[in-house]
Amino acid sequence: MKVILVPVTPFQQNCSIVICEATRRAAVVDPGGDIDRIIAEVDRQDVKVEKIFLTHGHLDHCGGAHALAQHYGIHIEGPHREDAFWIDQLPAQTQRFGFADAQAFTPDRWLDNGDTIRFGDESLDVYFCPGHTPGHVVFVSAKHRLAFVGDVLFAGSIGRTDFPRGNHDQLIRSIRDKLWPLGDDITFVPGHGPASTFGDERRTNPFVGDGVAA
Ligand SMILES: [Zn+2]
Ligand SMILES: [Zn+2]
Repeated sequence: MKVILVPVTPFQQNCSIVICEATRRAAVVDPGGDIDRIIAEVDRQDVKVEKIFLTHGHLDHCGGAHALAQHYGIHIEGPHREDAFWIDQLPAQTQRFGFADAQAFTPDRWLDNGDTIRFGDESLDVYFCPGHTPGHVVFVSAKHRLAFVGDVLFAGSIGRTDFPRGNHDQLIRSIRDKLWPLGDDITFVPGHGPASTFGDERRTNPFVGDGVAA
């Protein structure tokens, strides 16, 4: 499995093109906008995009999802249905933040903890990790020791919880109870900024490291 990061939107959100190298099929995680750049990178990689996967309903993560799904004629999977209220607000949010127009949509499949999402010969496990938003999900490849965590966890930080229906304690529990047990060697791609590993964050993260009181 190969991952190509395409930073999109004025928030420099890490859109990921995830490629199954055996079949040259791909999925796009969190196409928040700038879909022309995503499409150009897909063309450069010469892969066929099969699915769009969304971690949560924020504008910078799903603002380009509907247009990209239309472009390729493919389905949108995720996030969890508790984030429907965020997706419904996309048109208003794009105006507020001066983003390119984004359409609201209904995902073809809402996801829940324990679900599996597939593209090519690859699959990712779905973990429900609310707190930053109430319907946030994380995608994990145990085989490749890789996770796409959206805005749950960052290198040296954690997601904001000052949005409507954000919950700091719930976010901390999501990270400690759902992510840490997956293993210190898991590399994660966050929604913003550089990749890191769960082990490095357990050692050094000032919000959710092992030495930090709950
Ligand atoms: Zn977010
Ligand atoms: Zn974000």
